[in-house]
Amino acid sequence: MINDEKLLDGRAVANGIKEKLKSRVSVLKERGITPSLVTILVGNDPSSETYVRMKGNACERVGISSKKIHLAEDTTTEELVKTITNLNEDDSVHGILLQHPVPSQIDERLAFETISIEKDVDGVTSAGYGQTALGFGTYPSCTPAAIMRIMEDYDIQAEGKHAVVIGRSPILGKPVSALLLNQNATVTTCHSRTRNLASHVRQADIVVAAVGRPEFIKGEWIKEGAVVLDAGYNKGNVGDVEYEQAAERASYITPVPGGVGPVTIAMLLNHTVDAAEKTLN
Ligand code: NAP
Repeated sequence: MINDEKLLDGRAVANGIKEKLKSRVSVLKERGITPSLVTILVGNDPSSETYVRMKGNACERVGISSKKIHLAEDTTTEELVKTITNLNEDDSVHGILLQHPVPSQIDERLAFETISIEKDVDGVTSAGYGQTALGFGTYPSCTPAAIMRIMEDYDIQAEGKHAVVIGRSPILGKPVSALLLNQNATVTTCHSRTRNLASHVRQADIVVAAVGRPEFIKGEWIKEGAVVLDAGYNKGNVGDVEYEQAAERASYITPVPGGVGPVTIAMLLNHTVDAAEKTLN
C-alpha cells in the first residue's frame, strides 16, 4: 500500500502556482500588459503537437495569451532563425518556446541560441544554462525548475544530501544537477556510460530519474527513506522509476502522471509572467 503522505502531489503544487499567477496576470493587464507566450512547432510530430496544445491551453486558463506558430516539415534553419528573430524584436511577446525536437535538416542548437535571453522562458539557450549553473539564472529549464519547486513546497532540503541524477541531457539532467549542487547537495550525475548504476542509486538520499526508459530505475535500488523525483514520461503514462516498489522504500515520491509533468507546465507559465513583469521596470 502506498501511503498518501509519501506522495509528492504535482497537480496540487501546479494548482498553487497557477492560482498565484492569475492575480499577477490581472495586475499586469490593469497596467496594459498581457503576458504572451509564443510556441513554435516545426513539422507534424503528434506528441509535439499535443505538448504545444497542452501548453497553450494552460496559458489561457491563467490569462496568458498564447500564440502557436506552426511551420512546415521542410522549414530551413534560416527560415526558423528569421521567425525567432522577428519574435525577439516584437515587444508584445514575452516568452518564446521552440518545441523540441525539430526536423533533422534544422540546426536546432543554432535555433535555440537565436532566442533572446530575456525571452528564453524554457531555459534552452547556452547563456541561460550557464547562468543557471553559476547560480544566477533567471529562467532555468522548466522540468529542473519544477523538480526544485516540488522540493521547496514539501520543505525537502537538498543541503548535505547525496543526490543522484540519472540522465545528463541539456534540458533536464545537467541543469537539475547544477540546481541541486547550488543548493549544497553532493551530486552524482549518471548516464549511459555509468558503470554499476544500481550501486550509485543505492547511496542516494535524493533520486532524480531523467532517462526516458519505462521503469528503468528499480524499486529495490532505492535506499530506505530516500526522496524520489521521477521526471520520466514514457508511453502508457509510465515513469522511469518502478513506482510501486520504490514507493515502499521512499519517504517521498512523485507519481507519473501527476508529479513533475504538471509542475513543468506551471513553471513555464510562471517564467512567462516573470518575463512580462520585467518589462514594467
Ligand atoms: P534524453 O535527452 O534522451 O536523455 C536521456 C539521458 O538518459 C541521457 O543523458 C542518457 O545518457 C541517459 N541514459 C540513457 N540510457 C541510460 C542508461 N542505460 N543508464 C543511465 N543513463 C542512461 O531525455 P530527456 O529529454 O532528458 O528526457 C528524459 C525523460 O524525461 C523522458 O522520459 C522525457 O519524456 C521526460 N521529460 C519529461 C518532462 C516533463 O515535463 N515531465 C520534460 C522533459 C522530459 P547519455 O547522455 O550517455 O546518452
